[in-house]
Amino acid sequence: MRSLDGNSVITRRRLLQRAAGIWASCGVLSFVSAERTEAGLTSVKDTTSDSVSSGKIALEEHFVIPETLAASYGALGSAEFQRRLADIGSARIAEMDRGGLDVCILSLVGDGIQAIPSIPEAIRVARRANDHLAEQIAKNPKRFKGFAALPLQDPQVAAQELTRCIKELGFCGALVNGYSQIDTAESTVFYDLPQYRDFWATVQELDVPFYLHPRSASAGEPAYEGHRWLISSVWGFAAETSVHALRLMGSGLFDDYPRLKIILGHLGEGLPCNIWRIDNRVSRTLGAKPSAKRPIGHYLRENFYITTSGNFRTPTLIEVVAEVGADRVLYSVDFPFEDTAIAADWFDHAAISDSDREKIGRGNAQRLFHI
Ligand code: MN
Repeated sequence: MRSLDGNSVITRRRLLQRAAGIWASCGVLSFVSAERTEAGLTSVKDTTSDSVSSGKIALEEHFVIPETLAASYGALGSAEFQRRLADIGSARIAEMDRGGLDVCILSLVGDGIQAIPSIPEAIRVARRANDHLAEQIAKNPKRFKGFAALPLQDPQVAAQELTRCIKELGFCGALVNGYSQIDTAESTVFYDLPQYRDFWATVQELDVPFYLHPRSASAGEPAYEGHRWLISSVWGFAAETSVHALRLMGSGLFDDYPRLKIILGHLGEGLPCNIWRIDNRVSRTLGAKPSAKRPIGHYLRENFYITTSGNFRTPTLIEVVAEVGADRVLYSVDFPFEDTAIAADWFDHAAISDSDREKIGRGNAQRLFHI
């Protein structure tokens, strides 16, 4: 793995085995917080595990603003949890150091903008969230990057806001929390619908990734009645997001815009392990067929990227790499819902090749986001 300044990054344990005199000259001073003298972080306590490597980039890391806290998953957390979610400063940087993260691409926590049925209010809060994020990134531009929050309740305004975020605020793409509610709390609007085609044209033209993050199924979904424990990250997130992603693939969206790049978290929301069966059944079914020109798996492998957020399981990672290739898998944590050090301890020692670890931990993100 390489550090931001291009130097090789090695594990702390390995480094400690070297003579102390090497430290001053080896040029790997960015690898734990205690050594982050250039970033002025010498006061940050070094709690990095001995076995955690630095240099990683993570891209499903969330923040909240007061306007969206009540309707966010952060509302269920303690005051301390909410403070960690809101912080885009020294506490978050200390957490990143603990988990060996050089850079986090930050995003507004779900359900965020998507759960604001009033179109003018969704537009206002999205702009507010993006401006706030840009202000915080400006204070630590080497450690933080941003994903735009988008008011997809109005596709045309969402395209304008994404353009502003990329061209004026320097963001890396967008992260959207599932379907949007429009006008009424009961509505569920997915982005394969025809009114979103011009929005997708803008995304492709800007050449930035779109992170399709989960949200819970809509209120009243009968499958979860009496079993509220299933509705969000336990299972409902994967069910909702995998169906949304399949709608995008099956609609022919990627035939019309073949350079779109969609990111899925949680090791692919269950899609990679089911993709063979999906295409097998599409080919054999006597029922309805998708509108897309190619097999669904073609789009999963050509238009999608998959992160490790919140799914720290080596057999699953290996299967995802086997299905889509190591060039399309990226490290992420899902902070503060997951622990950065636990994620790093898993990833840094997972039974994958060091070449794949470098790509997934850092190289793929550098290439995808031009950072
Ligand atoms: Mn998340």
